[in-house]
Amino acid sequence: MTQSDSLLQLLKKHFGYERFRENQLQIIEHVLDGKDSLVIMPTGGGKSMCFQLPALALKGTALVISPLIALMKDQVDALRANGIQAAFYNSTQAKEEIEEVLSALENSHLDLIYVAPESLALLAPTLAKTPLSLIAIDEAHCISSWGHDFRPAYTQLGRLKVQFPEVPLIALTATADKPTQDDIAAQLGISEAKRFVSSFDRPNLFLEVRPGQKRLQQILKFLDAHPFESGIVYCLSRKSTEQLAAKLSSAGHRAQAYHAGMSAQDRADAQEAFVNDRTPIIVATIAFGMGIDKSNVRWVIHYNMPKNVEGYYQEIGRAGRDGLAATTLLFYSYADTIQLRQFIQGASNENYQIAKLERMQQYAEALSCRRKILLNYFGEFIQKDCEHCDICLNPPTYFDGTLIAQKVLSAVTRLQEQAPLGTLIDVLRGAQNAIVFDKGYQHIKTYGAAKDVAWNDLQHYIIQLINQGYLEIRFQAALHETPNNPKALRPTKNGRLALTPLSNEVLYKGAYVKLAKVVKTHAVVSEKTVVKKAHPELYEQLRLLRAELARDQNVPAYIIFSDASLKDMVVKQPQTPEEFKQVSGVGQAKLERYAPDFIHLIKSFVSNQPKDAPTKIKATKKRKNNTLDQTKKLIEKGYSLEEIAETRQLTISSIYNHLIKLHEQGMDIDFDPMIHASEIKQVLEAKAQLDEPDKLKSYYLHFEEQMPYWKIKLALYLQEVQEA
Ligand SMILES: [Zn+2]
Repeated sequence: MTQSDSLLQLLKKHFGYERFRENQLQIIEHVLDGKDSLVIMPTGGGKSMCFQLPALALKGTALVISPLIALMKDQVDALRANGIQAAFYNSTQAKEEIEEVLSALENSHLDLIYVAPESLALLAPTLAKTPLSLIAIDEAHCISSWGHDFRPAYTQLGRLKVQFPEVPLIALTATADKPTQDDIAAQLGISEAKRFVSSFDRPNLFLEVRPGQKRLQQILKFLDAHPFESGIVYCLSRKSTEQLAAKLSSAGHRAQAYHAGMSAQDRADAQEAFVNDRTPIIVATIAFGMGIDKSNVRWVIHYNMPKNVEGYYQEIGRAGRDGLAATTLLFYSYADTIQLRQFIQGASNENYQIAKLERMQQYAEALSCRRKILLNYFGEFIQKDCEHCDICLNPPTYFDGTLIAQKVLSAVTRLQEQAPLGTLIDVLRGAQNAIVFDKGYQHIKTYGAAKDVAWNDLQHYIIQLINQGYLEIRFQAALHETPNNPKALRPTKNGRLALTPLSNEVLYKGAYVKLAKVVKTHAVVSEKTVVKKAHPELYEQLRLLRAELARDQNVPAYIIFSDASLKDMVVKQPQTPEEFKQVSGVGQAKLERYAPDFIHLIKSFVSNQPKDAPTKIKATKKRKNNTLDQTKKLIEKGYSLEEIAETRQLTISSIYNHLIKLHEQGMDIDFDPMIHASEIKQVLEAKAQLDEPDKLKSYYLHFEEQMPYWKIKLALYLQEVQEA
């Protein structure tokens, strides 16, 4: 058997994986050869396997230096769950626990010992007597003052190579540019170490950016398409985390807020509930996520645009660490950009921050492959499009935007460069609202000139005009007096739109303007796994069993099984230990420990599946007809709607729905007392404006939850009947 075969066997036995990920095998073989390595691998790339597997293959104990005590504990828990002898040593432990660890170490009972750099000196006497298999230094960028996270205690790690010259050393980090890499190698005394630099690409992340309109509605729809999945929504402010979490909760989702203004206890509770999948959704400021090792985060949504690409990449990087498909969604709005600029104004490094913000904005507004932009930003120059971002799936098509541009620029002129974006759009579309009427804008010549263009589309085109330099956002009117508007000397709060030298080319010289068509965001597939479509109930039952076991054992759920393993169970539906062993992520230890519970569940699920699916549908239909009949009978007996609801133990809403159905079936029902003509009018007006007029929820949210669902439905139904 070759070395790589036996390593694969070891991988399957202890970790349950069938194959290595990018670079892992090469790195592991390099360590087994007794050589030093410097590993740059993005979070989620499988860094720890690079030292955990050699630790099992080699004699002696592996010394692992890790800076975060919480992460250390998680890793040790995960190793133990896989039947591996691992322990940690740090300042938080009780005396007895420390003695136990030291004795296990001295007697060579440990495959791995994790230690914080600050505690290394205390462990030194014992280490001197212990045969070491390898030394791994995790988060190695902390040794470099060039790095973004310097820790003084790390500088003492240079002594390790002097003290243990024969032991292979492996330094690992997720982020280090070239100068930082050189510095790490020099300080650790491993200048000759082979460098393994993995790509920053996270191909399992789907990248999408949408205009930040009706974000709540968009998020609710997104959640409907991602049932049972765990995810993070990042917001700019503490207040908005709380508001959004409350709205999601009232819509029936298990969601919680997290921000630095909460007490330490509340934050710890929220974090724990999230890690253990009790609260699958966390709505947080960027304070959330540092040091959280949760592999099954399936999506990350940015409610607001982050202030630079580094932050954005780090935050979306929290999704899909298990390597399975994960979705990221960024809402981009013009208002956010303005707010971020205001935060930055006056900062000591203002120019630097503005430049970073502009790179982020360019990413959000990109009309070419987003992954290419990101990787280029991090210095990986790639040519090929990724085919896994919204732009690749829906490449923009261009059209002659000259006429629209002329209308827009002409309106800006006539508004004397005083209107912010929203007002400009309202005027162009001929909106009849207070802002327009107060200022008398309905009298200007371009009022309603673009009423055939949808509000959102028009906004998109105007932003494109700004990006192409045909318009500029003006914050300080006093500094920008123009011939068009000699009186504009008031300082401005909102960005107002003003002309640029390029505008004249369009307005007076007939310059051609190219615009990209607006892509309908709903057209972009939010991938939902096929597996879940097939058996969402089984997946949910497996998930609940996992949560229960996790609670019993007081470990995070993913330590029992990853989402990948659960999905594989849904596909394979193993009913014997032999079959169970074929599931991805099932090694010997997990087979023995968990197979009985999971097999039991799967067996009973399979035996309860209806043999003949159509019968089930028929049964439901029959039940529905029955329920209508019962309502009908009570109406005929003269019961009021409230009495029917009471008698039948149903909500009044259901009864209204019955009425609509009965009317459809030909029953004579007078709806007049139930809904006022003005209410019908409101609903129909909303229908003309809404992005998704076929979704009742859109109306419900549009009316700020003030109009009940049944009434919306009834109004739409009555209009339909009238039109028919
Ligand atoms: Zn792409």
